Amino acid sequence: MIEHLYIHGAYLKSNSSETFESINPANGQVIALIDQASESDVEVAIKSAEKGFAVWSKMKAVERGRILLKAVSILRERNNELAALEVADCGKPLQEANCVDIHSGADVIEYYAGIAPGLQGAQQDLKSSTFYISKREPLGVCAGIGAWNYPIQIACWKSAACLAAGNSMVFKPSEETPLSVLKLAEIYTEAGMPPGVFNVVQGDYRVGQYLTRHPRVAKISFTGESGTGKKIMADAAGSLKEVTLELGGKSPLIIFNDADIDNAISGALLANFYTQGEVCTNGTRVFVQSGIYDKFIEKVCQRSKKIKLGDPMDLDTQMGALISSKHLDKVMDYIDKAKKSGARLVLGGNRHKSKETENGFFVEPTIFADCKDDSEHVTDEIFGPVMSILRFDDEAEVIGRANDTKFGLAAGVFTQNINRAHRVINQLEAGICWINSWGDSPAEMPVGGYKESGIGRENGPETLKSYTQIKSIFVRLDDVESPY
Ligand code: NAD
Repeated sequence: MIEHLYIHGAYLKSNSSETFESINPANGQVIALIDQASESDVEVAIKSAEKGFAVWSKMKAVERGRILLKAVSILRERNNELAALEVADCGKPLQEANCVDIHSGADVIEYYAGIAPGLQGAQQDLKSSTFYISKREPLGVCAGIGAWNYPIQIACWKSAACLAAGNSMVFKPSEETPLSVLKLAEIYTEAGMPPGVFNVVQGDYRVGQYLTRHPRVAKISFTGESGTGKKIMADAAGSLKEVTLELGGKSPLIIFNDADIDNAISGALLANFYTQGEVCTNGTRVFVQSGIYDKFIEKVCQRSKKIKLGDPMDLDTQMGALISSKHLDKVMDYIDKAKKSGARLVLGGNRHKSKETENGFFVEPTIFADCKDDSEHVTDEIFGPVMSILRFDDEAEVIGRANDTKFGLAAGVFTQNINRAHRVINQLEAGICWINSWGDSPAEMPVGGYKESGIGRENGPETLKSYTQIKSIFVRLDDVESPY
């Protein structure tokens, strides 16, 4: 079966005559062939989005909200079917996809459907005969470009604020995970969204470039690697587009002697092994204070050993497959480098193979202790299930070491001393911080990175405004003074 593009409320065959494969990472089997969009297909998608924008932007925000809320309820009704599709395309465990991926996407659409009608402009009196008003207007046609780790959630998050503010969107999912976004497009149509408001184009970086370089695309919202983000920003500069960049990280998780150790271990496991470690905010540099260092390693290994790897469709499975054979090689390469770095391998370190998983791309939960700050597995984003534990003695030292990275996506602290928790977080250079927790990302909370982890935010009230531009209108009620 060949999956086509989704343009103007219906599937459309690409004119490129080029297709690519979508592979189930758990067994290596091809699950679909997908049309690769050509440049002229992208032009068709943008023209359609312009027509969609003309209709959608004129509707009242509450009317748009009603349609978005209908989509939310369809997403929730179809949760299980969509979760199963996501698992087949991504390799993540169904026990995660069932309760997180679709629900967290729907939550954000629901949030923006609710707050968009409250978006207001301003009015200010100046002299008695003059004043100005400012209006928030949508930007026009925006483009979303997604990564492969949370395909439908990323598409929901990006489209939610964009569409609620009255824009239209052309979305390109990652070529690794092209399927679930098509279902989101179908659901938007079923909910009553006018044709062209949400279009999907498929393919690799070339399709991304057609969008980022297109003069009539007003904004790019991108999720992916920092290196790709830099290219996108450079391409967007050609037509001075706005960019939101949600990029990679190598986030520090700091555990003090006085932490509740079991909670801290729960945090460290979530921060390293959730979605096989393929989470942008992962806390992969785990700094543990000397007083609990040995106990932490013993307990974290005990709990990690129990993690169940296997067929991701089995609801008992806790860790699934990495996205591709190429990514598996990258992760194994970092594990080899870590083994040679002098770090102590305390758990895992191998490709996982069983009868059930032999054709998939599985890696054991892997933990290195006694890591050095400048080893490659500690400095680079691996995007796999590899935890690096580093020992520290005091607060000032660990803050300096935690900040010694080009990234700044997330950071976390486990301590029972609330003063210390805030004192440390206030000095960490990261956009998303957790105290005595890891990974929570409610719709209300803005998320995004400092430094090379990104520009702009997703979720929360500010993001809605970032999909608008301010028009200021000065009004004079008396005569115009003129020297001419
Ligand atoms: P990637 O950068 O390789 O690809 C992301 C998307 O960009 C894909 O759709 C790809 O086709 C497209 N693309 C690639 N080159 C392009 C170009 N030159 N112009 C336009 N588009 C281009 O990233 P990935 O491997 O899909 O995802 C993993 C990365 O995403 C990790 O670094 C991870 O940290 C990051 N990520 C960040 C967040 C966040 O919110 N900060 C969330 C999820 C993933």
